[in-house]
Amino acid sequence: MHDAFDESHARALDERDPLPTLRDEFHVPRFGDGEQAYFVGNSLGLQPRNVRGHVLEVLDTWAEVAVEGHFRGHAAWMPYHELVRDGLARVVGARPGEVVAMNSLTTNLHLMMVSFYRPTAERPAILVEAGAFPTDRYAVESQIRFHGFDPSTDLVEVQPDEPGGTVSMEAIERAITEHGPRLALVLWPGVQYRTGQAFDLAEIARLAHAQGACCGFDLAHSAGNIDLALHDSGADFAVWCHYKYMNSGPGAVAGCFVHERHARTDRPRFAGWWGHQAESRFRMGPEFIPTPGAEGWQQSNPPILAMAPLRASLELFDRAGMAALRAKSLRLTGYLRELVEQRLGEVLEILTPAATEGHGSQLSLRVAGGRERGRALFEYLEANGVLGDWREPDVIRISPAPLYNTHHDVLRFARTVDAWRQGAG
Ligand SMILES: *Cc1c(COP(=O)(O)O)cnc(C)c1O
Repeated sequence: MHDAFDESHARALDERDPLPTLRDEFHVPRFGDGEQAYFVGNSLGLQPRNVRGHVLEVLDTWAEVAVEGHFRGHAAWMPYHELVRDGLARVVGARPGEVVAMNSLTTNLHLMMVSFYRPTAERPAILVEAGAFPTDRYAVESQIRFHGFDPSTDLVEVQPDEPGGTVSMEAIERAITEHGPRLALVLWPGVQYRTGQAFDLAEIARLAHAQGACCGFDLAHSAGNIDLALHDSGADFAVWCHYKYMNSGPGAVAGCFVHERHARTDRPRFAGWWGHQAESRFRMGPEFIPTPGAEGWQQSNPPILAMAPLRASLELFDRAGMAALRAKSLRLTGYLRELVEQRLGEVLEILTPAATEGHGSQLSLRVAGGRERGRALFEYLEANGVLGDWREPDVIRISPAPLYNTHHDVLRFARTVDAWRQGAG
């Protein structure tokens, strides 16, 4: 029988893995003579080495031909967003016309709510998870107020009902059914940022629609992490960022999905000239004619320099394939779980659901003994080149990213916790 904690075992898992690591395609931060075990791809993904080339290409074009760059070459700026469209659609399981890269997540969430949160006196409410990421909560509260309604009655929050702070599908169903006739919008995460819990998006969309509400998803922790099937989920819209699992750099241009059935909607929207149909945009006419599909929600001409890293990143996603990445993610996270359960159970409690469909890459680990002890372990890990991230008051999140993390990285984490447990802890 193998010892899961054995170095040679981890090496063998890496060598045998059906999807060889693309680690060499990334800049991995140094640690001593080697590299960090970097598990914070859920916060800021590592820089792909091909980013620099794509950014320099834009700078060179600008330097060499200036305004002509809008029309020249294989990466002309005018249709630059189209260079990322198909790759993006593949990552999130959408049709090309359903996705667009633009703005930032919170901005896209507001733009989507302008179109898909249309409250009335009978149906004013938005349903979200309790403990949603702050920006989501601020955004929905401010939208409710903007329309003259009151968050204290019209913001419905579903409380976690499971130990460890996760939410059962039954609790979601109960809340949607109970508040159904008053719901204008259900907004739910694909993967919850604190617990790492993944949800059945198609089922949530079905429940929302059955009550006559719209349904949108925040996929900040899902895009590039789990194998989404956004089109099939039936969601009305979704928003996500590209600096987490999508490795496109700090503050990267974000993503947005609008379901095909709304491609030619006459719902209200906040329009801008880049959402105007491309053929006639430069006739500069007074009447807004939207581009069909998600691109019709664009407002401004896109920040080309900021889009270049996303283009680079999508090349790597296409090389590996999202289904293969998800399969590898399950192997890495499964190995992490095995190691924790085998020897670290008295230090770390796994909050993330064990079921395959109940999690993505991330395991949220509660450190036994409270905040002080948790901080001590977190700092010990950091001092030993193992980077996770800290969530108050006592949780360490570890997210092995299948593009660049290895079984050996995962073992480094477990062995470092084990050393701490036996010594300092
Ligand atoms: C990371 C994250 C955000 C970030 O929003 P920005 O507009 O990109 O700053 C929003 N929501 C969730 C759930 C997140 O995890």
